[in-house]
Amino acid sequence: MSRLIVVSNRVAPVDETKPTSGGLAVAVLAALKRSGGIWFGWSGDVSEVPGEVVHKVRSGRLTYATFDLSTRDHEEYYNGFANSTLWPLFHYRLDLANFSRRNYAGYRRVNAYFARKLVDLIEPDDLIWVHDYHLFPMAEELRRAGVANRIGFFLHTPLPPLELLLALPEHQELMRSFFAYDLVGFQTEADRRSLLDYAIQEAGGEMAGDTVFRALGRTASAEVHPIGVDTDNIERAAASAAAARYGARMRTSLGGRRLIVGVDRLDYSKGLPERFAAFGHLLGAYPANRNRVSLMQIATPTRAGVPEYEEIRRALETLAGHINGEFADFDWVPIRYLNKSFARRTLFGLLRTAQVGLITPLRDGMNLVAMEYVASQPPTDPGVLVLSRFAGAAHSVPGAVIVNPYDAEGVAEAIQLSLDMPREERVERWQAGMEALRRNDVSRWREIFVSRLAEAPFA
Ligand code: UDP
Repeated sequence: MSRLIVVSNRVAPVDETKPTSGGLAVAVLAALKRSGGIWFGWSGDVSEVPGEVVHKVRSGRLTYATFDLSTRDHEEYYNGFANSTLWPLFHYRLDLANFSRRNYAGYRRVNAYFARKLVDLIEPDDLIWVHDYHLFPMAEELRRAGVANRIGFFLHTPLPPLELLLALPEHQELMRSFFAYDLVGFQTEADRRSLLDYAIQEAGGEMAGDTVFRALGRTASAEVHPIGVDTDNIERAAASAAAARYGARMRTSLGGRRLIVGVDRLDYSKGLPERFAAFGHLLGAYPANRNRVSLMQIATPTRAGVPEYEEIRRALETLAGHINGEFADFDWVPIRYLNKSFARRTLFGLLRTAQVGLITPLRDGMNLVAMEYVASQPPTDPGVLVLSRFAGAAHSVPGAVIVNPYDAEGVAEAIQLSLDMPREERVERWQAGMEALRRNDVSRWREIFVSRLAEAPFA
């Protein structure tokens, strides 16, 4: 069997008890732990003079190969082009996208640097699987260095429609770098469609089969392979964590009141102000919930170097303050707003204690927390997932109550419906969701993608 090399911007900490607050790292770790292979990427450390060394650490069947970035690379590539240009653009926030040639040059430079370091590790039969928007040009760079291996790419975020992509000054170079892969995987059909629209309408390409397209002399397959979660582990961890100290503290603090939970990185794509407004509307329009229901929102700090993230943090604190000021009582706080991160096991225990999982991003590639909420529920008395139609998960988790996150009154109505839902319907919905999650868990996602990649080339 071929060896698998996974390339991603960040590599999860070798110490698994440390929190990893990013869906990609969580999923790749779960996928690779069983199959083994090499996980290659940035260590997460910034040093003034990063050495040329790649640090290798072995843990079970998995080898972590990591290196540091310089302050300038971190600023231009990571904070700059990846997180101030591509992230907002790919989440349909053209208004927040920042365009700078210097950052783009930094992005290209760091991709070339990743490729140079990776080349020495590659053996002829290896399958190379590149992840996410930080590293689009990797295949091109590797091909330029003479690497003839099969190379696949998976985009964890959405890919916006053609008309939005065209706003990127470097769209030609960037989008063409997709074509150097053998296989490109997406979370949803809409994302796949965006690439094919670009390849055909903008780059003059053509389809050469159901999924295979030709553009600019290259052939690749564009496929939908939605990511999954590690259902077995989550179920076990949630049950034991809910029974342990944290779970007991949570229940005591609620004093018999009901709980709605949200867990997100503190990111403008997650729809947090809209969510708070919907909860405020719930308390205003359905007063029976006052002193009966709390919203606990865990908002993990992220990307501190990007100014928009400071702004959203301030906006949320103000909004939570307003709602709490209006509705709180001496023995009840409506919104428990936590600006910190939790270990995954603790998180699953908290998800399990909540009657409603409120996951309402304005745009999200998948949203693993939505899946984790379902997998954490007690089978005979599960809570209800209220989920944005704009999360990839809306296509992967049947049984959720689907909402439009921009419609505060509609979301409040959906929460009320979920709080009132009879147990029989909750169990039915949960079973439908759980069955789908088990069928396409994270190992299955890896197996399908890797076995498709092994079939390349598709010419
Ligand atoms: N997570 C965590 N601790 C936290 C918050 C989040 O371990 O305090 C994990 C969470 O369980 C999930 C991931 O981080 O697996 C977030 O992935 P998701 O797809 O929901 O969003 P992303 O952050 O990738 O946009």
